[in-house]
Amino acid sequence: MDSQDMIDLCKKHTMYTWAAGDNVEPIPVERAEGVYFYTPEGKRFLDFNSQLMSVNIGHSHPRVIEAMHQQLQQVAYVYPGTATAVRARVAKMLSELVPGDINTFFFTLSGAESNENAIKAARSYTGRFKILSRYRSYHGATNACMQLTGDPRRWANEPGSPGFIKVMDPRPYHYSFGESEEEQTARNLEYLEEVIMYEGPDTIAAMFVETITGTNGIQPPPKGYLKGLKALLEKYGILMVCDEVMCGFGRTGKMFGFEHYDVVPDIVTMAKGLTSSYAPLGAMGVSDAIAEHFKKNMFWGGLTYNSHCLALSAAEASIQVMLDEKLVENAARLESVMREEMERLKERHPSFKEGRALGLFGMIDVQKNSAGERIAPFNGSHPAMTKLGQFFRDNGLFTFVRWGSFMCNPPLCITEEQLREGFAIIDRGMEITDAAFEG
Ligand code: PLP
Repeated sequence: MDSQDMIDLCKKHTMYTWAAGDNVEPIPVERAEGVYFYTPEGKRFLDFNSQLMSVNIGHSHPRVIEAMHQQLQQVAYVYPGTATAVRARVAKMLSELVPGDINTFFFTLSGAESNENAIKAARSYTGRFKILSRYRSYHGATNACMQLTGDPRRWANEPGSPGFIKVMDPRPYHYSFGESEEEQTARNLEYLEEVIMYEGPDTIAAMFVETITGTNGIQPPPKGYLKGLKALLEKYGILMVCDEVMCGFGRTGKMFGFEHYDVVPDIVTMAKGLTSSYAPLGAMGVSDAIAEHFKKNMFWGGLTYNSHCLALSAAEASIQVMLDEKLVENAARLESVMREEMERLKERHPSFKEGRALGLFGMIDVQKNSAGERIAPFNGSHPAMTKLGQFFRDNGLFTFVRWGSFMCNPPLCITEEQLREGFAIIDRGMEITDAAFEG
């Protein structure tokens, strides 16, 4: 099938996400390998976003393909009440990989389903009802996850159901809790404690946080925040749930984001990098105390495809590749190259506002004047950003442009040379936003 047929039929017979179908201009993709993917006509794209920050080991790894092939020949699927070797092996592997006392896993098909089940588990375990989460967040597109989510994607899904309480991040979009990281942490936690008092501590089951905020800014928490948050929540018997759907599995230069902050949550949710997207799979990992509870009490949750053998074989092989090829270490090593490239962009481009990178989790904000005003308004766009996105696409760089920022999240197998190749395209592209600077 050629590109045009692919586009026409997909647009005619399928619905696209987060878009009015007529406005979508999908990239036709025929094959993918490593950090590149290709159209039927052979145009090559450097994948600078790992698709949806999820193809962590890179595309079409032969070991994963082989493992999935072998699993298919044995058994593709059996119902969730069975025991299988692949389920046993992956659960054991995860219990060794996830730090602390998180040793028990419930398998789902996505990040959203992992969070849905974490809401259920937290409510059932604590006997409490309310759930705290932060405005500057995204947790998935199912009904309850839209209510966990704070960003504007929530609006069209309102009104939600009672019991979902939103709070501010220690690093909100505009408002500031203080100049220094210490001050941001201290003031935010003071504010949060007051919210908890007003809501009634005995009514709150859990607080969900993206360990490192993803789509809403690639924002690591300020110093001491996660540790302070854990202590505050513990004081009131509230569970801490770390959503590692985007930042987990090596993205930040450690296997899990919370490993940067010397803290272990009560529940961790994961998906994306768990299989590097070779098959849909998510998981909720729970502490030993919570696991013990569900040994004695019913877990009121189920999915036809819970512990799907094929998806688990993809997880096992993909994690093994990540370990054997030292891809987490590669992400940690290349953080300095990403930062160096961002510094160079800053020197060369007046429209460069700020760059953030933790491992290969990166984002660049664009400004419209020397006062540092963002080029696009909150939840809005700017013609120069639209043009920049088009430039990236025309020049074979695939990444996400959102509001006044764009992403730098390549697969963790990227080489230094390939990373610099991506930044060379960005360097040329930012002449477009420079032209709009103070214009
Ligand atoms: N949580 C976070 C932090 C995410 O970034 C996402 C997806 O981008 C989700 C949850 C939802 O995952 P899924 O799209 O697999 O349901």
